[in-house]
Amino acid sequence: MIHYQLRCVDGHEFEGWFKGSAAFETQAERRLLSCPRCGTTEVGRGLMAPAVRTRSGHLAVGATAGEAPVVAMPDEMRAVLQRIRAEVERNCEDMGDGFADEAIRMSRGEAERRGIYGNASDEDREVLADEGIAVVRIPWLKPAEG
Ligand SMILES: [Zn+2]
Repeated sequence: MIHYQLRCVDGHEFEGWFKGSAAFETQAERRLLSCPRCGTTEVGRGLMAPAVRTRSGHLAVGATAGEAPVVAMPDEMRAVLQRIRAEVERNCEDMGDGFADEAIRMSRGEAERRGIYGNASDEDREVLADEGIAVVRIPWLKPAEG
């Protein structure tokens, strides 16, 4: 299950649990999600809770620069993703290519537990999965111009 912080067009934030990001996208596309406060079905991902919990109960965030195909992205979506990036950068430590190693050290109690982000190859993600560490991949958009 993936936990998403959701946000309607009027800015009400609420939470949702989905089987995976594809399940969320399908439900959002079909307008099956509605805001508990105003009922609108114009709902998107808000600020993502930066991550899925690791086995040790702490958070890790995996972000991979430039990997996600971005096709005809609406401005609102772009803004949300830019906000996610800004929040992650503000709240988490950049591990760069050392992300997977550090996540494993945190999980094993060998490093201070905190929010981190960085790059993870497919191989890294397999290693993390073997360690029981779930990470979230975030489309990493450049901040808005100006
Ligand atoms: Zn609403």
